Amino acid sequence: MSVRVFIAALGTETNTFSAIPTGWNAFLESHFRRDGAAGDSHYFGGPNRLWRERCDSLGYAVVESISTFAQPSGPTKHSVWAELRDMVLDDLRAAGAIDMVLLHLHGAMVSTASPDCEGELLVAVREIVGPEVVVGVELDLHCHLTERMIAASDVVVLYKEYPHTDVLPRADDLFSICERTRKGDITPKMALVDCRMLAVWRTSLEPMRGLVQEMLASEGSDKIISLSFAHGFPWADVPDVGAKFLAIADGDLAVAEDAARRFAAKIWDLRYDTASTLLTPAAAVEAARSCRQATVFADVSDNAGAGAGSDSTFLLRALIDDDAQKVILGLIWDPVAVRFCFDAGIGATIGLRLGGKTSPYSGAPLDTVVTVKGLVEHGRQPFAGGDQPMGDAVLVGIGGIDVVINSIRTQVFHPEAFTQFGCDLSSYRSIFVKSAQHFYAAFEPVVDAIHFVAAPGVASPEFTTLVLNNAGRPLWPQVDDPFVEVSS
Ligand SMILES: [Zn+2]
Repeated sequence: MSVRVFIAALGTETNTFSAIPTGWNAFLESHFRRDGAAGDSHYFGGPNRLWRERCDSLGYAVVESISTFAQPSGPTKHSVWAELRDMVLDDLRAAGAIDMVLLHLHGAMVSTASPDCEGELLVAVREIVGPEVVVGVELDLHCHLTERMIAASDVVVLYKEYPHTDVLPRADDLFSICERTRKGDITPKMALVDCRMLAVWRTSLEPMRGLVQEMLASEGSDKIISLSFAHGFPWADVPDVGAKFLAIADGDLAVAEDAARRFAAKIWDLRYDTASTLLTPAAAVEAARSCRQATVFADVSDNAGAGAGSDSTFLLRALIDDDAQKVILGLIWDPVAVRFCFDAGIGATIGLRLGGKTSPYSGAPLDTVVTVKGLVEHGRQPFAGGDQPMGDAVLVGIGGIDVVINSIRTQVFHPEAFTQFGCDLSSYRSIFVKSAQHFYAAFEPVVDAIHFVAAPGVASPEFTTLVLNNAGRPLWPQVDDPFVEVSS
């Protein structure tokens, strides 16, 4: 009888400080398939497509459940989470005898009642399939990696890259490791170490580039099967918030524990070298005034990919006040403004109330006069081997500043966010993107410099003041040394 493999994808990343609720619409708008992920190019369905291809080439039977993803925002309504969870579990029960379960999850999904959705799902999966069936999980590195997830799984593999350029290679790794486990060639032993750190690590830049290379080079020798650095997702007030390091060794837990501790120590030792240089909004506007060639300024605090509204007005207002020239800025999520511009038409000059809608973190709406320069229906951007919808979108001019406004909330991933309007990016001196890091892979080859800006926002990188009442233990940089026991 042929080997039978069950696959599913279910994810979102929850910013517990975000005022944007996550309900059914958020999943349906971003990515939801019940009939196989192959029909959708969304990046989150990529692993399912890859696993199906590998199964097909081996003559294995595939049972595919849902593939879905919601744009990061606030906690998922618990009944919606429960419905999605039960779709996967019901499909698994209905599948009958299964040899391997492969799941693509995010790892930082919080419902209005559960701080660890993925842990809850994996425990239920294990109860259904029993201890003998191999359960493998691919997670985003921005996860709250919990002991419960590890205990319920045989193999957990995280993306190593931020930007997430390796979603598919890690899916391939997971398939190979699970297949060797199923055949009895290896016995994965997983060890998890808590780094007790809150930070953003950019793997495009040294010294993180070197650390990722070292992780890759260490796999496959000295019993080490897989190494994963869970960067964590800081904007979530849950017990497992913070960075962790996961090592998997063949049959030897002590080897896994030693590797996880060694890499966690390296990350701790590099904590000041891996910290991002961040400009204040005033410094960014000043720098935009003086730059002569295409320079990117990333508004990391209003990153939709971290649950922000992507509609903050702080930087745009400062640029207008400065009478900035040859600037393009995007993406501002404002479906009402998009509708007004579509109805006004190309060439129209209209008064427009723009942005500042989702919460006080986004600042006040901006009342301004815009000229409609471009309209795009159903805009999309390439990302991580797939693409991302940005909805109907418009290009408007405000003095010397061009702005892209869109109707499906998403961050800037790719120059196509702008160039699909026919813009030539080299004609702008500065490009303001609402994104923390994913833009980097596609922009870096075509721009002259990249700066990161810490404006106010719901994904502010000021971790020292982030209020985490449920973290349960001290975290750097909120304390200098989180491993010192404080006597009460
Ligand atoms: Zn991520």
